[in-house]
Amino acid sequence: MTDMIIIGAGPGGYKAALHAAQHGLKVTIFEEGHVGGTCLNVGCIPTKTYVHSASFAEAVERQPQVVEQLRSGIETLLSHPNITLVRERASFVDAHTVETPSGQRYSADNIIIATGSSTKLLNISPSLTPPVGGRTPVPLETSQAETRPSPPRGEREEGLVVDSTGLLALKELPRRLCIIGAGVIGMEFASVFNRFGSEVTVVEFLKECLPAIDSDIAKRLRKLMEKQGIKFYMGAGVKSLSPAAAPDSPDTVPDGLPSGSLSVTFEQKGKELSVEADVVLIATGRKPNTEGLNLEALGITLERNGAIPVNDNYEVKAHPLPLPKGGESQEGVSIASRGNESPSLGEGLGVGLHSLYAIGDVNGRQMLAHAAEYQGLHVVNHILGIEDHIRFDVMPAAIFTTPEAACVGPSEDQLKEAAVPFECHKAFFRANGKALAMGETEGMVKLCCEPDEGRLLSCHAYGAHAADLVQEATAFITLGATLQQLRETVHIHPTLSEVLIEVN
Ligand SMILES: Cc1cc2nc3c(=O)[nH]c(=O)nc-3n(C[C@H](O)[C@H](O)[C@H](O)COP(=O)(O)OP(=O)(O)OC[C@H]3O[C@@H](n4cnc5c(N)ncnc54)[C@H](O)[C@@H]3O)c2cc1C
Repeated sequence: MTDMIIIGAGPGGYKAALHAAQHGLKVTIFEEGHVGGTCLNVGCIPTKTYVHSASFAEAVERQPQVVEQLRSGIETLLSHPNITLVRERASFVDAHTVETPSGQRYSADNIIIATGSSTKLLNISPSLTPPVGGRTPVPLETSQAETRPSPPRGEREEGLVVDSTGLLALKELPRRLCIIGAGVIGMEFASVFNRFGSEVTVVEFLKECLPAIDSDIAKRLRKLMEKQGIKFYMGAGVKSLSPAAAPDSPDTVPDGLPSGSLSVTFEQKGKELSVEADVVLIATGRKPNTEGLNLEALGITLERNGAIPVNDNYEVKAHPLPLPKGGESQEGVSIASRGNESPSLGEGLGVGLHSLYAIGDVNGRQMLAHAAEYQGLHVVNHILGIEDHIRFDVMPAAIFTTPEAACVGPSEDQLKEAAVPFECHKAFFRANGKALAMGETEGMVKLCCEPDEGRLLSCHAYGAHAADLVQEATAFITLGATLQQLRETVHIHPTLSEVLIEVN
């Protein structure tokens, strides 16, 4: 019996393990893949290595080195004497016990589920879906659907449908890349592969890209990316993916697929259109990893998006399990009936299992690496009885396109919709000395605050180093500062930061 079990060693899991271990708890952490999770191995770090590489060849070479260096750093951290790393998949036996495929069982007072998420597959044809974390050869929509065998190692890989992991595994730059989905992942890859020299087309169902960001900023960024050469089809629903027809016989699919290209067919404003590509990236979102955890045994009903339901302390909500004969309660009930029900839980949502937590992507709240980390820290604090004041309602996020976009707090549209009294202040990079000196004049910052330059509510921006500007605004918002206080804070000249005090 240890104090704590953590399932998954991504940023949520491994940071929680360290925090708990440093506070004297004995932790057993399970990881079926590489430590560092999606973020380190196939997410934040590899993609940002691409963003900061001058060419595709350099990115492909640097990516494994950067990942390996960070991974070995995490392995060292996890060698803490209070931490046992078990390199196996874990699934629940009951709310205090997990087992691994090798048949070992482990028990703990508290268990944190930090199993992350994986690519949400496109719902157009079962043959079109890339395997999680990977790639699939040409998907066919015809009745004789078949799968083209993967090319022998080292040969040019053509006509692939991939998810983000599959795209990061490519060794050759696709000449034509079609990206389905203009969310964060789609936009970042569109930007970087366009810069590397691919012909990039983005097909998006919604009217605008990046739904989480202020629509004005999102539109300006998309327009800028269009100027950079990326073709966008907005409000376009993908209907099918198929091998591209030969130029001389437009209605037929050629045998042998000499070009290896794919045709993405979609409907936009009632018209059917198609785009040809050598590689198609499916970037239509992520879904929580809950398969195989045996959550049913704990009385947990997943939310509609597949997430594990949690309360504000990230305690898992579960329905009490039926009492077994003789009145002895099962684990789910016994925990709930110890008087640990969380009063904040809504009717019919179940009770909080006091010793079972779900953090990071698997609870579907904010699918960001730093959200997972802070949720993990909060859970450990909660278990230890340490009071913290982490503002989960002030969660900054960035999109690492060129230039960057970033946001914290509600967008102008959301404030209007919620009928919150507010005023909006803007500034443009072209009026900022440092931006001009850098030749980075494209960009804008939008600050929303309570009336009369009152309490800051949100900041949305695009432009060079937008993430850093939004980080500064995050500090002010977290501390409850007003726009007037931000203006009165001395800013170094010349810096991009001055954009924040240059707002109208
Ligand atoms: C292409 C891409 C780019 C991204 N870029 C950014 C970015 O720039 N900034 C940002 O904030 N976020 C980014 N994200 C999102 C970020 O990666 C995730 O939000 C973050 O990794 C979530 O952390 P986590 O700890 O919840 O889960 P994960 O990092 O997914 O880790 C979960 C771990 O659990 C393991 N696991 C799962 N099930 C079991 C089991 N039953 N037993 C044992 N182990 C198990 C998995 O192998 C995995 O290692 C990006 C994601 C992608 C895909």
